[in-house]
Amino acid sequence: MKETYDVLVVGAGVTGLTVAALLARCRHANRLRITVADAAPRPEHDPGADVSLRVSAIAQGSVQLFEAIGAWQQVLETRASPYESMRVWDESVEPDSRGALQFDAAEFAVPQLGFIVENALIQHALLAVIDRLDVDLRFNTRIETFDADLVIGADGARSFVRESFGIGTREFAYGQTALVTHLEPERPHRKTALQRFTRHGPLGMLPLADGRISIVWSIDDDLAAEVQAADDEKLGAMLTEASDHVLGALEVAGPRGAFPLRARHAKQYVMPGLALIGDAAHAIHPLAGQGANLGLQDAARLAGVVDAALEQGEHPGDRPVLRRYERARRGENATMLHAMTGLNRLFATDSALVRELRVHGMRLFNLGGPIRSHAVKVALGVGR
Ligand SMILES: Cc1cc2nc3c(=O)[nH]c(=O)nc-3n(C[C@H](O)[C@H](O)[C@H](O)COP(=O)(O)OP(=O)(O)OC[C@H]3O[C@@H](n4cnc5c(N)ncnc54)[C@H](O)[C@@H]3O)c2cc1C
Repeated sequence: MKETYDVLVVGAGVTGLTVAALLARCRHANRLRITVADAAPRPEHDPGADVSLRVSAIAQGSVQLFEAIGAWQQVLETRASPYESMRVWDESVEPDSRGALQFDAAEFAVPQLGFIVENALIQHALLAVIDRLDVDLRFNTRIETFDADLVIGADGARSFVRESFGIGTREFAYGQTALVTHLEPERPHRKTALQRFTRHGPLGMLPLADGRISIVWSIDDDLAAEVQAADDEKLGAMLTEASDHVLGALEVAGPRGAFPLRARHAKQYVMPGLALIGDAAHAIHPLAGQGANLGLQDAARLAGVVDAALEQGEHPGDRPVLRRYERARRGENATMLHAMTGLNRLFATDSALVRELRVHGMRLFNLGGPIRSHAVKVALGVGR
């Protein structure tokens, strides 16, 4: 049995930094020599800067993980927007009708359902923790060769690690582009995350602490060019319409970004000496805001498996060890990927019968029962 093992984490995004922090704090951390390498420069944080474009809805389960790492307090002190309610509805019904899905934190005895946080702030808080741990952190370092007992590929959807190890993916284009920007709503958002499904794709509206909303509008590719070409005034009017005026008139109040949407799932997550986590393993539709949360659960499970292997005197890069991680996560991520793809298709269907079934289904769902509580647990990320 070796005394110490080299672990190379490729990618210092949210998932790479999380797995590094967890490993550096595990029971057997003194037997791991951990390096994190990222091709990009170290992200800077300017406290006076505006809310950045890349925000994620961080579920309660991920909050608990950041608390355990010791990174959450800094996120809270910097900038995090809690959301207490969620409302989801189809374009054929009113947002306040019984045909709309509704969840409230109070119903589940939690103070909030989750938080909207900028990805860069999470990275920053994790880096502050890692700076105090025994981790060799290297930015501006593009990894091209691998020399470690365990390589963890956390290098995002177009993972170089995945490709280098010859792991294929199942993938397809959703035929949609996600447009993101911030808007000033006429009416207060009341800390509610909103999502309206339209036949051209879902519009997610996330409440920010400063009163604005951050939107993710996943629009069919044939409309995307028109939307992207619109000036701020026109775009505000389009979004007011697409949101069915639920918050009154919407005014563009931030820059814009656009992301072509593609589903991707690695055919395998592990090989001897290799594990893929986060977007390197799976990329899903942003409609339920689950992408980063799934990656965080990968990180937590992989770190747990490695720690348990060291406890048992096993090599952490052995395939049977890493298969424990893959077995725990691949099926679960596949379920979420298919559910999001299915939901997106179901809501994009124009048939009157399907529309009726959708609205009826939402009403039934609102009545309660095990399906509702299961769905809420998944949304909160606190167990299944
Ligand atoms: C529009 C949109 C909205 C979203 N909203 C949400 C949401 O509300 N909630 C949610 O949970 N998720 C959301 N997601 C998904 C979420 O953003 C991603 O799942 C998450 O950022 C993935 O994190 P990651 O660390 O796995 O990968 P990434 O953030 O992609 O990080 C990968 C890192 O690897 C580095 N890298 C790449 N190649 C190399 C190399 N060869 N060598 C070294 N370093 C390398 C990169 O520089 C980068 O820092 C959204 C996604 C989109 C597109």
